[in-house]
Amino acid sequence: MTSHQILPVLGNCRLLGVIGDPIKHSLSPVMHNAALQAYAVDQGLDAVPYVYLPLNISFKDLETAIAGLRAIHCQGFNVTIPHKQAIMAHLDQISDIATRIGAVNTVWCSDTGWEGTNTDVYGFLAPLRALDRDWSDAEVMILGNGGAARAVIAGCEQLGVRTIRIIGRDRHKLEALQQDFQSSTSPHQIQVQTWEESEQFLGRTQLVVNTTPIGMAPKVDASPLSEKAIAALPKTAIVYDLIYTPQPTKLLAIARQQGKGIIDGLEMLVQQGAAALEIWLKAKPDVEVMRQAAQAILAKR
Ligand code: NAP
Repeated sequence: MTSHQILPVLGNCRLLGVIGDPIKHSLSPVMHNAALQAYAVDQGLDAVPYVYLPLNISFKDLETAIAGLRAIHCQGFNVTIPHKQAIMAHLDQISDIATRIGAVNTVWCSDTGWEGTNTDVYGFLAPLRALDRDWSDAEVMILGNGGAARAVIAGCEQLGVRTIRIIGRDRHKLEALQQDFQSSTSPHQIQVQTWEESEQFLGRTQLVVNTTPIGMAPKVDASPLSEKAIAALPKTAIVYDLIYTPQPTKLLAIARQQGKGIIDGLEMLVQQGAAALEIWLKAKPDVEVMRQAAQAILAKR
């Protein structure tokens, strides 16, 4: 694509978007519109087929908003906080992976109505798969037990790891999560531990994933693990932080200083977006265009 080319929005343009509240800090509009422009240019189209808008929809207005989106023939949308679970009641079909996680982040209009899935698992796995590493004997430690942790657990199941250890501060929440995911036929073990208990397992953990907001801007001086705890990880361990502002987080900066492999949350964000766009376009978008568009905005924040 030639970067100066901006294709117009004509009368046959359809709507895509992201619903959430708040939504104004979302990077999705910039990533998706950049990719839609690139797609239209590459295909030799005279206009963009879709525009992608941030749609601020409060929790109480979800049902009305979904009916409105249907009425204006919206082609599809991403779903973020606080609608990822609540949207499920408004869909005609939900994929197995979204059912397993209990959350939908991508919706599209099909012949049978609204269909929903969750592309966060794909996004989470993309940078790990790029490492081309065998995870079959690995122990993974997941810090936090909220919505993102559920996608990470499902991702670790797909990686085929041996043990998934979830760290949280509320034993009831931890046990509920364990019950949701563990079954007698699971090939892996799901363990749950409090933060205090987690220390003894660091030495055998090959992958740590931070799914808490600890270290996210503006509280950039915080880290979910101390320097000593990060040092207790094996030399070959990978530290993965779902946060993408700042880049790197304190957790990742310490891990990198200690020579560990690090992954930040931007690639997950870009790859989950690319997977959603592929569903709507029925064609692979230019992931590099999406990555650069997101980086350019982050650099200005
Ligand atoms: P969430 O559902 O609110 O879960 C947050 C989790 O962090 C909860 O388990 C919470 O514990 C724990 N937590 C929060 N503050 C804590 C503290 N001070 N000490 C210990 N634990 C704490 O949020 P989420 O949707 O899972 O998102 C979590 C993070 O992932 C956010 O930073 C988000 O930006 C990031 N994320 C990134 C991507 C991406 O594409 N890169 C995608 C999704 C999410 P309790 O349950 O005890 O409250």
